[in-house]
Amino acid sequence: MKCSKCGRELKEKDFEVMWRRCSFCKIPICDECTHYMAVKRRGLYKEYVETLPVCEKCTPKKKVDEKLLDIVDEILGKD
Ligand SMILES: [Zn+2]
Ligand SMILES: [Zn+2]
Repeated sequence: MKCSKCGRELKEKDFEVMWRRCSFCKIPICDECTHYMAVKRRGLYKEYVETLPVCEKCTPKKKVDEKLLDIVDEILGKD
C-alpha cells in the first residue's frame, strides 16, 4: 500500500497511526498528506464537531474554511 499523494509506503499495521483513508474517496493517505475537516454533528444533548481525515482533493475550499471558523468560534466562544 502506498500513499496516493506522495507515494510513501504504508504498512497495514500502522493503519490509523501513520496513515488513514480519506473519509470521502477512501484513498490511502499518510500522516503528512492528511488534511482535516471539521463537521458539525448533532449529539444527544448538544451539537459537537467531529474531525474527519480527508485527502487534499477532498479538502474543503476556502469558503467552507470560513464557515469552519464560525463553528470553532461557536464552540470556543468569541471574545
Ligand atoms: Zn503522503
Ligand atoms: Zn479524498
